[in-house]
Amino acid sequence: MAIISEDKINTFKKNIAGTVVLPNDNNYDELRVVWNAMIDRKPSFIVQCATAEDVAPCIAFARKFDLEITIRGAGHNIGGSAVSDGGLMIDFSAMKSITVDVKSNRAVVQPGATLGDFDAAVQVHGLATPVGINSTTGIAGLTIGGGFGWLTRKYGMTVDNLLSVKLVTVEGESITASENENPDLFWAVRGGGGNFGVITEFEYALHSVGPEVLAGLIVYPLAQARQVLNSYREFNLQASQDLSVWCVMRQAPPLPFLPENVHGQEIVILAFMYAGEPTEGKKQISSLPSFGDPLGEHIGVMPYIQWQQGFDALLTPGARNYWKSHNFTELKDETLDIMIEYTGKLPSPQCEIFVAHIAGAPNRVPSAAMAYGGRKTQYVMNVHARWDENSDDDSCIDWARKFFNATKPFASAGAYVNFMTAEEDDRVTYAYGSNYKKLVEVKRKYDPDNILHMNQNIKP
Ligand SMILES: Cc1cc2nc3c(=O)[nH]c(=O)nc-3n(C[C@H](O)[C@H](O)[C@H](O)COP(=O)(O)OP(=O)(O)OC[C@H]3O[C@@H](n4cnc5c(N)ncnc54)[C@H](O)[C@@H]3O)c2cc1C
Repeated sequence: MAIISEDKINTFKKNIAGTVVLPNDNNYDELRVVWNAMIDRKPSFIVQCATAEDVAPCIAFARKFDLEITIRGAGHNIGGSAVSDGGLMIDFSAMKSITVDVKSNRAVVQPGATLGDFDAAVQVHGLATPVGINSTTGIAGLTIGGGFGWLTRKYGMTVDNLLSVKLVTVEGESITASENENPDLFWAVRGGGGNFGVITEFEYALHSVGPEVLAGLIVYPLAQARQVLNSYREFNLQASQDLSVWCVMRQAPPLPFLPENVHGQEIVILAFMYAGEPTEGKKQISSLPSFGDPLGEHIGVMPYIQWQQGFDALLTPGARNYWKSHNFTELKDETLDIMIEYTGKLPSPQCEIFVAHIAGAPNRVPSAAMAYGGRKTQYVMNVHARWDENSDDDSCIDWARKFFNATKPFASAGAYVNFMTAEEDDRVTYAYGSNYKKLVEVKRKYDPDNILHMNQNIKP
């Protein structure tokens, strides 16, 4: 760890409104821990920022003492890019304010807000914008990698709804990026991750949603997977963009609507949300149960906020996780067969194959419109290897890698950077495709020395 004199630390503390948290402090462990328990790193300094003005001194201090800078929204990045050994972590957990302007349908959000904080603040006004499906995820990291969820087919990626950001550059300058101000930077932060500066404020467009939506789960046995998946992909070709039906293959968790003898069996789940009028939604989903002989279903009209927390219990922090992901422009027969084969050999009860259908509004934006370029994507597949014991590391990681390699020939449309592990540095250029060249140009302009490199790194 870097040794910096107490005097220098005290002078730094006087320059900021927030709190410096050092390894001996009580809340050090709480702040350094991230969602994925595979990551266990010890920064030299954590600066829990209180205001946007705290960021420039953090960058200057880190640069002066040669400390690696990391930025933490809510610590959900799977590769643990929010924390490094010996570095300086800029922590936004104390900056979560959200201001909603109901006249213009806009929200201004600080970078420590979680999706749960955001949804709660905007749903008070019956508003929402597309964000992810786990309420403890940080809105900052999710947005700057692209961001998708149950509203994406209807309203686009999270970045499609981003109107502006306030950002502190590595030189300590505070600037705004939008279509009108610093448009090259605005192009880059919409998908290019934390490569260009430290964002202190996000402004989003909002839409009327809910507050009640039709949503639920239908569970089928793995033995019927092929017929269910065939019907699923046919159905999605003509489904309304108000409706998102996603597929999860795993062992049955002990859900109260499933008979006890089903718990632990391999299953196929179709999970859906209808973003329009629930009565119309009921008509639109009426054929789903006939895709097989369901083992159970849980369908109802519920608060949008409740559905946004529906998967939280399966995605709690503290487990060991390893993810691999592909984008698909279609689900080919071979892909479905491999999904079924690998669900038949899950190495732990928490491992799952997760397929999100995001076709719709995102496909109508040109690939070059912003850094997020996966515009041909119809499905994003994420292989969630998840387990508790270190002794299962090898078998679970091996399962995820083999599944990823087996499905690779059928993948296309780039890759989703927010699901990539730290070891996938060589996939970053593939992920951005033809947008990578412009990302390098913007990186050279705003961070030529690659000060901000704990991310899906764009190499200047
Ligand atoms: C359980 C779970 C569910 C998920 N579900 C979805 C989903 O439904 N849809 C989806 O699109 N994604 C989803 N994701 C992926 C998610 O988008 C990424 O993990 C994202 O990085 C999380 O953001 P964070 O702020 O919590 O992460 P952090 O780990 O805190 O930050 C990630 C990185 O973002 C950058 N960063 C963070 N804050 C800033 C800032 N203020 N300025 C500049 N750079 C910054 C930094 O490089 C940082 O290392 C999920 C992840 C998990 C773990």
